[in-house]
Amino acid sequence: MTNTIDDTSIRHTPADLPSKIQHYIGGKFVDSIDGDTFDVLDPVSNEVYLQAAAGKISDIDRAVEAAQKAFKDGPWPRMLPRERSRILHRIADIVESRDARLAELESFDSGLPITQALGQARRAAENFRFFADLIVAQADDTYKVPGRQINYVNRTPIGVAGLITPWNTPFMLESWKLGPALATGNTVVLKPAEFTPLSASLWAGIFEEAGLPEGVFNLVNGLGEDAGDALVKHPDVPLISFTGESSTGQLIFGNAAPYLKGLSMELGGKSPVIVFADADLEAAVDATIFGVFSLNGERCTAGSRILVERSIYDEFVERYAAQAKRVKVGYPHDPATEVGALVHPEHYDKVMSYIEIGKTEARLVAGGGRAEGFDQGNFVTPTVFADVSPDARIFQEEIFGPVVAITPFDTDDEALELANGVKYGLAAYVWTNDLKRSHNFAQAIDAGMVWLNSNNVRDLRTPFGGVKASGLGHEGGYRSIDFYTQQQAVHITLGEVHNPTFGKADSAKH
Ligand code: NAD
Repeated sequence: MTNTIDDTSIRHTPADLPSKIQHYIGGKFVDSIDGDTFDVLDPVSNEVYLQAAAGKISDIDRAVEAAQKAFKDGPWPRMLPRERSRILHRIADIVESRDARLAELESFDSGLPITQALGQARRAAENFRFFADLIVAQADDTYKVPGRQINYVNRTPIGVAGLITPWNTPFMLESWKLGPALATGNTVVLKPAEFTPLSASLWAGIFEEAGLPEGVFNLVNGLGEDAGDALVKHPDVPLISFTGESSTGQLIFGNAAPYLKGLSMELGGKSPVIVFADADLEAAVDATIFGVFSLNGERCTAGSRILVERSIYDEFVERYAAQAKRVKVGYPHDPATEVGALVHPEHYDKVMSYIEIGKTEARLVAGGGRAEGFDQGNFVTPTVFADVSPDARIFQEEIFGPVVAITPFDTDDEALELANGVKYGLAAYVWTNDLKRSHNFAQAIDAGMVWLNSNNVRDLRTPFGGVKASGLGHEGGYRSIDFYTQQQAVHITLGEVHNPTFGKADSAKH
């Protein structure tokens, strides 16, 4: 049977959807100064379901002014870490208590499967809880130079942090920046992705309820080239934390350069999975299926290139293709759905064009186009290409959808060359039971994060970030605290003043 969007038994629209989304500036919901709005579509029907305020330079100016006022005159930067921590824990409690509603809205707006959106909502709460705990446990360095000096670090918040986020897991990624930026006492202006502004509009209510002082959190919706660009170029925003495409990161890097801003860049990826012949094949197949098809394949750390040792290659490809064909594409709200709808028709077109390119470059062994039974919306079948050569575009370029490239290798050296032979370096996954090889191989990979015999399971204390075109700087644990704070070194002399005297009176000759 062919599903159509009029079939209300399968298509779900959340109750009480807003019809418009405003900015949130200085504790108030406001329209854009010029009244402009942009359309927001739902990915199942691609119909416009709401209008969001389209922020421009003047709206960013207003938001930065409010954030600056809260930073200069408000209580937030001056509160004890424990006091801020209490509010952050309350935020986590509220997010947790509304996880079902958050997931419902996120899934509707982004096309993410509901079960995975629920997991992301819980992760968002955990991000707040983690930084709430960390800021209280935070210790700073003090150094003693015996008999001469004590030196200590005076850590302070920096000011107004500009946070710019993508659409793939909107609410969770916003929390990954909001948590540490707020925990450390900064005030913020958030510019969420224009494809998915719905869940971001909930932060204001959550923060008000948790007791965050007015002006500490500000939200400006809008297009990247307008609102995002204005935030990057605002002279009173000393920090930009950005997650998005590498090409956007490059642009932002250039635009922020004249202001010498602090930048944290979490960018694109084309992460390799290396499966050696001695690996636990069943676990490796399960992990690599999940690794590229979860979150609709719209995952920065997706293992989208699978390199398989030649002796198990044919068996791996066969098992992988068979399992990929069983992955359930469905409506985002259906708990049985494993791959939902891609976020937006523009992104759907991009992913589909890569699938067509792949058909000319490699052997298609599963999927290969629009999911059967879905006439409308952005539904793509999990797609698997085998025998992909390393110079193929589907091997080199980030597709950011449910599409994977499988390539054989003969030796460890060849596997390493293939793994490192792309411009990206975000994550890597290695499957082998050889202890020595796993560590040596992992350490030789150009990637910010490596998992051995594991899927992407995060420990929030570890550094998160990429190398090469995948990013600049690391967040995670204390590294996030470092990014969002100034560390002033204060030096105290205990002994005699170390003072080589220039121009001594008794040496002066008149
Ligand atoms: P994108 O770069 O198109 O947009 C990201 C954000 O930047 C959006 O809010 C957008 O409005 C804004 N923006 C666009 N142009 C701008 C400009 N000139 N100045 C300022 N802001 C601007 O990325 P996307 O398509 O939303 O997200 C997908 C990308 O994000 C993928 O490449 C993915 O790998 C990457 N990503 C990386 C991570 C990570 O942690 N490394 C996590 C998630 C997603």
